[in-house]
Amino acid sequence: MSSNSKIIDTHAHLDFPQFDSDRPQVIERAKKAGVEYMVNVGSSLEGSRRSVELAGISKFIYATVGIHPHDAAKVDDKVFAELELLAKGERVVGIGEIGLDYYKSKVPKGLQQEAFRRFLDLAVRLKLPAIIHNRDADDDTLTILKEFSAKGLKGVMHCFSGDEEYLKECLGLGLYVSFTCNITFKNAKRLREVCCNTPIERLMLETDCPFLAPQVVRGSRNEPANLRYLVELLAELKGLTVEDVARITTYNAKSFFSIPLTDVEALPRIAYNIRDSLYLNITNRCSNGCSFCTRGISDFVKGHNLTLEREPTFEEVIAAMGDVSAYKEIVFCGFGEPTLRLDLICQVAKYLKEKRAKVRLVTNGHGNLIHKRSIVSDLRAIIDRVSISLDVDSKEKYLKICKPQFGPGTYDNIIDFIKECKSAGLDVEVTCLDIEGVNIKKCKELAKGLGVEFRQRHLNMVG
Ligand code: SF4
Repeated sequence: MSSNSKIIDTHAHLDFPQFDSDRPQVIERAKKAGVEYMVNVGSSLEGSRRSVELAGISKFIYATVGIHPHDAAKVDDKVFAELELLAKGERVVGIGEIGLDYYKSKVPKGLQQEAFRRFLDLAVRLKLPAIIHNRDADDDTLTILKEFSAKGLKGVMHCFSGDEEYLKECLGLGLYVSFTCNITFKNAKRLREVCCNTPIERLMLETDCPFLAPQVVRGSRNEPANLRYLVELLAELKGLTVEDVARITTYNAKSFFSIPLTDVEALPRIAYNIRDSLYLNITNRCSNGCSFCTRGISDFVKGHNLTLEREPTFEEVIAAMGDVSAYKEIVFCGFGEPTLRLDLICQVAKYLKEKRAKVRLVTNGHGNLIHKRSIVSDLRAIIDRVSISLDVDSKEKYLKICKPQFGPGTYDNIIDFIKECKSAGLDVEVTCLDIEGVNIKKCKELAKGLGVEFRQRHLNMVG
């Protein structure tokens, strides 16, 4: 991990006695390992008090307050009133650890559920996210979470260990999912597969220390500095760099717990890096109004702020790119349709060709409609590869889902654009989305019939 990369341990128990002899040293090791903050999760009344106390002493620590289901029987009015007071503290960022545990807990299910509901209600009232523990209680946990998600609950499934179906249910409720270092265990193949299928935009990192030390130090006391092993594994599983995983999960954690971004993190990006590609964000305008577009929902994509204050000039794009020699490719992409700024694409791509860079254009394929003429001859000499987002398998679906400003003829026009690009000798790939209702097999056949490559895109995937 580069020295600039920062990560957040979203679930640690530094208040536990296992850290009594060397807590300051543990914190120092975490900082050296790139941990920017840790969220100390309260799991008992005393633990919640300690959690708030620790957050008061160290700016490195944020606190949450809650009672683990093991102690649910202790949640009476007095205890709850004190926790509610603690929850209003300045550096308290969540309610938890709360939930249901039918595996180990001796507390009757009814009592656990009552306490869980009480805390979820508190989370909703105080507009704080909930940190949810679930062990062997999938159905009841989901039933209760559904009640509260209808009331605006924000939550994370801590130490996720469910299957694909459960993951889908949780994501459907808008919940985040956090994985611990137990995914590094040799026997955690199934969990690693579930992790692979978790959109990284909803994923957070945690150690759950002192428990669940990673495979390399398994059996020892876990601590926040070990989070880097999780980052390394996630990068491998997701086909990203460790810097990408660090940036994205840190953004997720800050956004989830309402921890302020640094000025650098908040800065709108003209050029942004993912894996070994550099992406150029030259406009936020678009000729589509896709129902799945995230522009209206968040300013951020993969941990980069892509909402521009204004469209950049040629000079600003060149300055934002810096030295391009380290990148595999430079990609016109961003939070809008790049061909709306065709002149800028031509200018920048020409500059890049002089630098012998590989240049790719990601487009919705509306360029000919936007400029009321064929733009392919403009692109031929300066663009190496075009990724055309056809998204769906029929014109009817395109009209309904992508809502193009050019109306019903748009889909056929994109097909013509694909053919033209292919005949002009450009490398062409067509991409479609793996969302419900899209027939991917049909999309693949369509691309095959056009003699171009095909790629299936997941929602939120860039480029
Ligand atoms: S084409 Fe891309 S930028 Fe435009 S609306 Fe659709 S998803 Fe958003």
